[in-house]
Amino acid sequence: MTSRDPIYVTRPYLPSLDAFIPYLKNIWQSKILTNSGPYHQQLEQRLCKHLGVEYISLFTNGTIALLTAIQALGLSGEVITTPYSFVATSHSLLWNGLQPVFVDIDPSTFNLDPSKIEGAITRDTTAILPVHCYGNPCDVEAISQIASRHNLRVVYDAAHAFGVNYRGTSLLSHGDLSILSFHATKVFNTFEGGAIVCHDKETKHRIDQLKNFGFVDEVTVSDVGINGKMSEINAAFGLLELSSIEEALAEREKIDAQYRSGLAGINGLTIYRRISDARPNFSYFPVLVDNSYPISRDDLYNKLKEQDIYARRYFYPLISEFPMYRTLSSAREENLPRATQVARQILCLPIYSGLSSSDVHRIISLIRDV
Ligand SMILES: *Cc1c(COP(=O)(O)O)cnc(C)c1O
Repeated sequence: MTSRDPIYVTRPYLPSLDAFIPYLKNIWQSKILTNSGPYHQQLEQRLCKHLGVEYISLFTNGTIALLTAIQALGLSGEVITTPYSFVATSHSLLWNGLQPVFVDIDPSTFNLDPSKIEGAITRDTTAILPVHCYGNPCDVEAISQIASRHNLRVVYDAAHAFGVNYRGTSLLSHGDLSILSFHATKVFNTFEGGAIVCHDKETKHRIDQLKNFGFVDEVTVSDVGINGKMSEINAAFGLLELSSIEEALAEREKIDAQYRSGLAGINGLTIYRRISDARPNFSYFPVLVDNSYPISRDDLYNKLKEQDIYARRYFYPLISEFPMYRTLSSAREENLPRATQVARQILCLPIYSGLSSSDVHRIISLIRDV
């Protein structure tokens, strides 16, 4: 038996090191390391163009971007959100002294079910914090109608949604604010990084002050800000990464297609349905393993693991099951039957640029031949 490299659910996309050296030399020469330097400014401009949005503020990571987005809107009381996400989504509410109110998901899209939102609105509700899970667009029209009917703000956690277009425009153009994550595990990465997308100059200005301690000028501090600034090294890497991101996405698209045809028609295995009218980013490849599959989801997960293939149970457990959330009344399992079921069935298969088609074939065969 020949030894193979382990296969992880994702691997960071890294352009050539040689191509990065000139950026480093420039940084060393200029001695500008951070505080909205030239690479930071360039990356903001290039991302606006690439993503088709007007205003973007770079951050040190997606979580600080999320915290700052909530601060920028001055939210209070309760915020409606999804239990089916990465824990940072709800943590950003608790960290801001807000009460998360969990609403169930639509199991076919993995996103907040808009028909359940209004039932959860109280006098204390000030906003909705939905997630475009796996880059699959939320029902943005329905959410926007509910928000305007009840005078609520909408912050999208778009950490999975880099480059996703919906009905011909950027998915990031919806809601009051959207946040992105450029963590190493995401489709587009700056090692660590994140951003807030907003729709007007004044809001961008305020967000930029908030991420720089609240400084207005040398001697004036207007807000309790934070240090959320992206460094020049991260921004430079982002510029390099952006120049070949389309090729990386094309590789993911091929893997996605290979899984879709290879895994079609397996009893007990459901491949997630992509929203029509969307240009996806192939960031994840989730499948649902139900009772009619020969073995349980966890047994399949372990069987792959024995072969050094590390699929992930994203998202399991639900956020609402973690100790700081489970005592909330909205966290009860009866309130979240769909999310609970999906969390028990979900398995995200490896997908990243550089994953070979023979490895994808091997994964497909292992799943098929159970
Ligand atoms: C990755 C992620 C975050 C956090 O982003 P970081 O850049 O890692 O701080 C937030 N929400 C979701 C849905 C994520 O997947």
